[in-house]
Amino acid sequence: MATHEKRYVIIGNGVAGTTAAETLRKNDPNCSIHLITNEPYPLYNRVSLPRFLQGVIVEKKVMIRDFAWHEQRNIQFLTETLVTSVHTDARVVVTDKGQHLPYDALLVASGGWANPLCVPGADGTRHIYNFVTLDDTKTIIARMLESKTALAYGGSFIAYELCDGFAIRKLNTTWLMRGPYWLRTALDPEGGEVVDNIAKKFGVEVIHGDEIESVVPKNGVPSYVKTKKGREIQADMIGIGLGIKLNTSYLAGTPVEVRSGVVVNEFLETNVPGVYAAGDVAEFYDPIISRHHTMGTWDNALGHGRIAGVNMAGGHQAYVDVPTYTSPLFDVNIAVVGTAESNNPELEVATLREPGEKGNENYRKLFFRDNKLVGVLMIGSPKGRKKLVELVKNQQIFATTAEREAVLTLK
Ligand SMILES: Cc1cc2nc3c(=O)[nH]c(=O)nc-3n(C[C@H](O)[C@H](O)[C@H](O)COP(=O)(O)OP(=O)(O)OC[C@H]3O[C@@H](n4cnc5c(N)ncnc54)[C@H](O)[C@@H]3O)c2cc1C
Repeated sequence: MATHEKRYVIIGNGVAGTTAAETLRKNDPNCSIHLITNEPYPLYNRVSLPRFLQGVIVEKKVMIRDFAWHEQRNIQFLTETLVTSVHTDARVVVTDKGQHLPYDALLVASGGWANPLCVPGADGTRHIYNFVTLDDTKTIIARMLESKTALAYGGSFIAYELCDGFAIRKLNTTWLMRGPYWLRTALDPEGGEVVDNIAKKFGVEVIHGDEIESVVPKNGVPSYVKTKKGREIQADMIGIGLGIKLNTSYLAGTPVEVRSGVVVNEFLETNVPGVYAAGDVAEFYDPIISRHHTMGTWDNALGHGRIAGVNMAGGHQAYVDVPTYTSPLFDVNIAVVGTAESNNPELEVATLREPGEKGNENYRKLFFRDNKLVGVLMIGSPKGRKKLVELVKNQQIFATTAEREAVLTLK
């Protein structure tokens, strides 16, 4: 039987896709690799975008790869190219430039795009921004330099990053969210209050339990927003953090199973032979918690990229890791480890709130299942985080109150 070099196609050049391409090249020097993105840039660090937004770092520091890196590795890098459909029976990927790219193995690593603000007055009004891409960040920065009043909208990580950026750039900032407090799926009212106090220290007005009813523009730019509860909030720019929609539309019509994300097993294989998924877009089986879930973190996408690259080239490695998310939160830190779900009735919680540095508070919340530590949320000092991650990994038993108290105060 004639053999040919193996052909790999990767949709998305985020950290998952680019890491998979790098791993494939290391494992198979002769294969052909097409790495496709609709964006104009090689891999950049999305996690650094908030610091670029704040003016703490310059654009160059956000970039991770350049075009030469792809050439040196003989990776065919297609930018500003949108994948429009996939034909799994013929094993072909089709792009908006009319290319038909055959593959032996395909990686879906297309992440998600931000949900827009859909209220009266928003459509056609300028200076209403999502915050996901480098281009988003550049346009927000340009507007911040001429803006006076800003509204950050949403109870997500992205909304607080926007709020943080506006406040640090000294805009008169309001933070509006529908929920009763920030990060409602993981925090509780006390943790929410800790975060509010930090934001208020930076001059932010925080409003919970209300939502934008309409945007009132003047000369095509926002003047103020009206809320459902009758408030009028001045804002000449609006940043939106209302979650993302995972990019799977090009899989419509294929047998690839898609639920909230593209469903894969612990080897990152879909139900269709030769098709893999990695990163934000993957709804993967997590052996630590014995169920499928999606995970929107950098480390998870990087780890997925590596494993997908190995397995696409014929390996058989499972992805097993404790997900962690760490990020600055105004002048403190936030870390989320493992399963931190306040509304999950299977979990028991223990919390600690104590004075911290710079006039802030430290807040720690632990989540236990079957007496094992399965999740951690920390606001303030990050001391003890690595030890806590180890405790989650080791699945150690903490049956007594005294044992749990010791974990709460672990430094
Ligand atoms: C502002 C911001 C701050 C963040 N901060 C943190 C943090 O502090 N810590 C942390 O752990 N995580 C953070 N994250 C999340 C983290 O960046 C993501 O989890 C990670 O980058 C996901 O990588 P990915 O490779 O799965 O997808 P992505 O980086 O989303 O890459 C997917 C790429 O595929 C492209 N694409 C989509 N559809 C198509 C198509 N049809 N054709 C061609 N290309 C397509 C997309 O445009 C994109 O370029 C942050 C994210 C943002 C936006």
